[in-house]
Amino acid sequence: MAAQETVDHKYVYDFSEGNKELKELLGGKGANLAEMTNLGLPVPPGFTITTEACQAYLATGREPDGLAGQIEAHLESLERAMGKRLGDPQDPLLVSVRSGAKFSMPGMMETVLNVGLNDQSVEGLAAQAGNNERFAWDSYRRLIQMFGKTVCEVPGEEFEHALDEAKHAKGTHNDLDLDADDLRGLVDAYKKIFLKHTGREFPQQPREQLDLAIRAVFESWNAERAVLYRRQERIPAELGTAVNVVTMVFGNLGPDSGTGVAFTRDPASGAQGIYGDYLANAQGEDVVAGIRNTVPLQELEQLDKASYDELLGIMARLEEHYKDLCDIEFTIERGKLWMLQTRVGKRTAAAAFVIAGQLVDEGLIDLDEALHRVNGAQLAQLMFPRFQLDHEFQPVATGIGASPGAASGTVVFTSARAVELAAEGKSVILVRRETNPDDLNGMIAAKGILTSRGGKTSHAAVVARGMGKTCVSGADEIEVNVPAKRFTVAGQTVAEGDVVSIDGTTGKVYLGEVPVMPSEVVQYFEGSLDPEHVDNALVRAVHRIMTHADGKRRLAVRTNADTGADAARARRFGAEGIGLCRTEHMFLGDRRELVERLILARAPGEREAALAALLPLQRADFEEIFREMDGLPVTVRLIDPPLHEFLPPLEQLAVNVAVAQERGEDVAKEEALLAAVRRMHEENPMLGLRGVRLGLVIPGLFAMQVRAIAEAAVSCARGGGAAKPEIMVPLVGAVQELETVRAEAEKIIAEVVGDSGVEVLIGTMIEVPRAALTAGQIAEAAEFFSFGTNDLTQMGWGFSRDDVEGAFFWRYLELGIFGISPFESIDRDGVGRLVRIAAEEGRAARPGLKLGVCGEHGGDPDSVHFFHEVGLDYVSCSPFRVPVARLEAGRAVVETGGSDSR
Ligand code: ADP
Ligand code: MG
Ligand code: MG
Repeated sequence: MAAQETVDHKYVYDFSEGNKELKELLGGKGANLAEMTNLGLPVPPGFTITTEACQAYLATGREPDGLAGQIEAHLESLERAMGKRLGDPQDPLLVSVRSGAKFSMPGMMETVLNVGLNDQSVEGLAAQAGNNERFAWDSYRRLIQMFGKTVCEVPGEEFEHALDEAKHAKGTHNDLDLDADDLRGLVDAYKKIFLKHTGREFPQQPREQLDLAIRAVFESWNAERAVLYRRQERIPAELGTAVNVVTMVFGNLGPDSGTGVAFTRDPASGAQGIYGDYLANAQGEDVVAGIRNTVPLQELEQLDKASYDELLGIMARLEEHYKDLCDIEFTIERGKLWMLQTRVGKRTAAAAFVIAGQLVDEGLIDLDEALHRVNGAQLAQLMFPRFQLDHEFQPVATGIGASPGAASGTVVFTSARAVELAAEGKSVILVRRETNPDDLNGMIAAKGILTSRGGKTSHAAVVARGMGKTCVSGADEIEVNVPAKRFTVAGQTVAEGDVVSIDGTTGKVYLGEVPVMPSEVVQYFEGSLDPEHVDNALVRAVHRIMTHADGKRRLAVRTNADTGADAARARRFGAEGIGLCRTEHMFLGDRRELVERLILARAPGEREAALAALLPLQRADFEEIFREMDGLPVTVRLIDPPLHEFLPPLEQLAVNVAVAQERGEDVAKEEALLAAVRRMHEENPMLGLRGVRLGLVIPGLFAMQVRAIAEAAVSCARGGGAAKPEIMVPLVGAVQELETVRAEAEKIIAEVVGDSGVEVLIGTMIEVPRAALTAGQIAEAAEFFSFGTNDLTQMGWGFSRDDVEGAFFWRYLELGIFGISPFESIDRDGVGRLVRIAAEEGRAARPGLKLGVCGEHGGDPDSVHFFHEVGLDYVSCSPFRVPVARLEAGRAVVETGGSDSR
C-alpha cells in the first residue's frame, strides 16, 4: 500500500494547478507563477516540482518513485502546447530551471536559462529566429556558463574572464558588439573550461541537462551557505525547495525585445508611480548584473507603447489582487510581453507605513491588516535622526554601530565637561576609551558617545541604547588621550572643542559637521507635529496605525525611567506608568560620600546619620518622578547592585594609599576605605551581596527608601496630586525574604501614610529561577510580580551577561545555537517557560496578581508578543521603545485573531 501511495503521490503541478497560497508546497516563485497564470496574465507555460519531491530526494539520495514519469508527462504536455520538442534540432523548445523555496534564500542554486540547447539545436534556434545566429550562439554560451556555474560548480570567474577576453579581442566593452562568430568562439572556450573543471564534455542530451539541473536545485538546499542562513533565520531545515521549469521567452532577439524589473510603487518612499528598469536586447540576469546601463521603465513607453500600456495594466491588476506592493520581472519578446515573476515586494520602513496607510485609503485593506503589515523594528528605525550625506564626507574611522542614529557635536572627554557645554546649549560628543557608571551624567548630556573600545554589549553601547542615544563603540583606529584632551585618527589630531559626526547605524565617524535631519516620527510622538495638519504622508500613516494599535492592545505599556525628565518624555511617548524606577543612580555623584559613610560606618550612630542625610534627597527624587507620572503607577525598585560598586576600584585605591603613605600623609581614612573595599570584594558579584540580600544585611537601608517613597507620595497627595507607588523588592528567591522586608515596610508605610489616602503596593521582581519555581508561595506576600528577564536569562542560562556576549555569543550565533541573543529577545522555551510557570502559579495563588515585565525584553517586538500570549498585564521598556511596544502589543492582538489569550 505504501508503494502504491508513493506512485500516486503528486509531485508535479502545472502552473494552472497551483495558487499563491501553496508557497510551502510550490515555493514562493512557483505559487506566484501559478497565481498569475490563473489570473489570465501572460506567463510562459511551465510546471513546478514540489518541495515534497525535494524532501524525498534529500532523504533517500535519489528521485522518488513516480517523479521521473510525472516530469515526462508534464514535459510532453508542455511540448504539445508549444508545438515544439525540448532540444529539437530543427525547432527546439527551451526551458529555464529555477529554484524557489517558501522563503527566498541566498546560497541556493538560482537559475539555468536556455536548457535544451546543444550543438545541433543551436542551429535550429538560429533558423527559427529568422537566421539570427548571433542570438542563438549568445543563448548557447549563456547556457554553458550558467549550467557550468550552478550545476557543476565551475568557478564563474573563468567564464567571465573568457567573455572579457572576447570583448577585448574585439576592442569593445559592450557585449552587443560580439557577433555570431565571436560567440561561436566563446562557446568553444566555455566548453573547454567546462571540460577542464568537470572532466566531462558539456552534456548534449537535452533531457540529461534538465535532470541534472533539477537535481542540482534539490541539492543546493543543503549547500553550506544555505544551511547556515537557515539556522540563523530559523527557517526549518525540512522545508526543501521547489523547482520551476518554465518555457523560455527571449529578450535577446533584437532591439524590439528586452527584459526588465518593476515595482508597483516606490519601495523607498511608498509613493505611487512607476518604478523600474528596462534593458533592451538582453536576457534575464543582465538587468541585475549591470552589464549594460538600464533605462528607467518610463522610457519603454517610447520604445514599445503597446507592451508598456499592457504592463501598467498588469501592475495595477497585481496590486489590487495582492493588495500590496508587488515587484515583478518581465521580458518582451518581439513586442510580446511575458510575466516571469511577481511577489510582494520588500520596502523601506517608511514605505511600509506609507503603503499600509494608502492601501487603507484605497479600501484594499482594513486597519487590522495595516497593523499587521508594519512592525516595531521598522518603527524603531524611523525614530532615529539621520545624516544627509550628499556632501563629500569620508569617514575617518569605522567602529561598531552600537546604538543607531546620527549625531554631530563638539568633542569632549569628560562627563563634567559634557554637562558644562550642554548647559551652554552646545551639542557634544563624549569621547572615551570606554565608559563606566560615573559617566552617566555626561552620557545624558551628550548628543552621542564614541568609544575606542568595547562591542555591542559594552557599557557605553548598552546604556546608550537604553537612552536612545547615538553610540559608536570600539572604533579602534582612534587613539584616545583623556588627560591631554585629544584623540588621534588617521594621522590627524582632534582636540576638545573640534566637531565630529558619528553614525550609530553604520559605525562611521566623520570629522566636521555632517548635517542631520531630525526624525519626523519622533517630532510627532513628542507632540510638535500635528498629524491632522502636517503634509507628511509618513507621519499621518504612523499616527493612524498607532491609534489603531492603542485601541486594539490588551497589554499596558509602561516605561523604565529613573528621572523626572525621562518620565516626562516617556509619558509623551505614551507610557502608562513606570514599570521600573531604579534607585542606584540616586547614590552616585556628590552623594557618594554619604554612601561611603553608610558602608564604612564604625562608630555608633554613624550609619543612622548617613541614612538620615540621604532620606530627604531620596524623597525629592521620588517627588519629582511622582509629579511627572501623576495619576499613573510608579514601580520603584529598592537598591539592587552590590554596594562595593559605589566604592572606588580596589587597584586605584591601593595605589593612592601607597603613594600617600610614601609622602608621609595621613591616610587613616583611605586605609579604612581600602580595607572595606577588600572586605567587600566578591568573586561573582552578580551572585553576591545584592538586591534583597542587601536589605536584610544593612540595617535601615531599605527602611530609609521605603520611608522616602511613602513620604514623597503623601507630599504629592497633599499638593493635590495622585501618586501611585509600587515598591519592588529585587532578587527575591524565597518567600521568607520578601516577608521579612514586607513586615518592616508595612509598619513604616502605615505610619507615614496615615489617613492621606495614599496606597502603596508591595511586590517583587521575579528574576531568580527559584522565585519563578516557587511563585505560588511568593505570591502570598506580593501584590505584584515584575519579571526581571535580564537576570532571569542570566541565571536561567548560567550566562554572565557582562562576559559572554563578547566572549562567545558570535560562535553560538554562527552555529545557530540561538538565532538571536537571549538577552535581546526572550528565549521562549527556557526562560519563557519560567515566566509562564510563575504567571500561572502566581495567579492561581492570588487571583488578580498584577503581572509585568521590566528589562530590555519589554521593548523587543517578539518578546512583547510572547508576554501578550502569557497574559501579562503590562510591559515596561526604555522611553524610546515605548511606541515600539505599543505598536507590537496591538499587533499581538491582531495576529492572534483578536483573542484574549488569558
Ligand atoms: P532569481 O530568483 O535570482 O530572480 P529567477 O529564476 O527569477 O532567479 O531568474 C533569473 C532571471 O532569469 C530573471 O531575470 C528571470 O526573469 C529570467 N528568466 C527566468 N526564467 C525565464 C524564462 N523562462 N524566460 C526568460 N527569462 C527567464
Ligand atoms: Mg527572479
Ligand atoms: Mg535584576
